[in-house]
Amino acid sequence: MKKAIVIGSGPAGISAALYLKRSNIDVTVISKGIGALEKAEKIENFYGTEALSGTELYERGIESAKKLGIEFIKEQAVSIDFDENFKPVIETDKNSYKADAVLLAMGVSRKSQNIKGLKEFEGKGVSYCAVCDAFFYRNKDVAVLGNGEYALHEASVLAQTSKSVTILSNGLDMETEIPENIKYINKKIISVNGENTVQSVTFDDSEVFETSGIFVALGIAGSVDLARKIGIEVADNKIIVNENMQTNIPSIFAAGDCIGGLLQVSKAVSDGARAGLAMINFLKN
Ligand SMILES: Cc1cc2nc3c(=O)[nH]c(=O)nc-3n(C[C@H](O)[C@H](O)[C@H](O)COP(=O)(O)OP(=O)(O)OC[C@H]3O[C@@H](n4cnc5c(N)ncnc54)[C@H](O)[C@@H]3O)c2cc1C
Repeated sequence: MKKAIVIGSGPAGISAALYLKRSNIDVTVISKGIGALEKAEKIENFYGTEALSGTELYERGIESAKKLGIEFIKEQAVSIDFDENFKPVIETDKNSYKADAVLLAMGVSRKSQNIKGLKEFEGKGVSYCAVCDAFFYRNKDVAVLGNGEYALHEASVLAQTSKSVTILSNGLDMETEIPENIKYINKKIISVNGENTVQSVTFDDSEVFETSGIFVALGIAGSVDLARKIGIEVADNKIIVNENMQTNIPSIFAAGDCIGGLLQVSKAVSDGARAGLAMINFLKN
């Protein structure tokens, strides 16, 4: 039986999963829990519902999916790759899962760090994808900006080829244990410095830390972070899809806030439905 994996249990992910399940596709939803709806105090513009909180709407969605028998796995996706048959493999903080088709429905990332120089050095020492750019930093000292499982994953990828890897948590405590081959500094960062490319960062105690590259892995990996790892087309921090919600890699679809447009529940549900139907078509043919 063909296997579909949906990453994200918001309106887009659940909508797609409902269509897939009702068409007898083996579907699993991997999610770390509620997404954008957590911050929505009151929703009163969604068809057929009285005013309700985002959390209530989310819980209703999960309940309806569970009633249909959709399987949920509460884990954090940290990477995506392909096996020898070019089937997608999703890596989470705990396991890896193979699928025949994958839907990225992880919403938009609202994480950001207002560090002087970080934006200016994008592509000149500041990278957002370890697996894409590790090659350029082989035998060099590099840093990863972040403090969770995603930062650790990116640091572990870099540790295979770089001279040294240091996680810079920018004043935050680490949420995960760090292996011995990776260093860790939790001082606040004031600026990223360099001439044409990154050469160092300055901490709030004026110490200057030399590094050839900074890999940004803040919070948890978003849809766009995963997309970048496998060469999915991205523009303006949004995943590019065709009218069937299919990316430039045929087995990978994307829906909801992560593809841009109207950032509303109604549009996420519609995207999810279209993605679910297109995935059914893809898997059955
Ligand atoms: C404050 C606020 C108020 C809003 N008010 C309204 C409103 O009144 N009406 C309206 O229509 N819309 C409203 N919205 C917008 C609405 O919440 C979003 O458009 C909608 O939730 C998008 O759905 P989605 O499925 O694309 O993403 P999300 O709902 O964000 O779901 C993303 C899912 O992906 C999961 N995820 C993310 N990263 C990972 C990872 N690495 N591993 C595993 N899982 C992951 C999350 O846990 C979540 O389950 C509001 C949004 C905000 C922030």
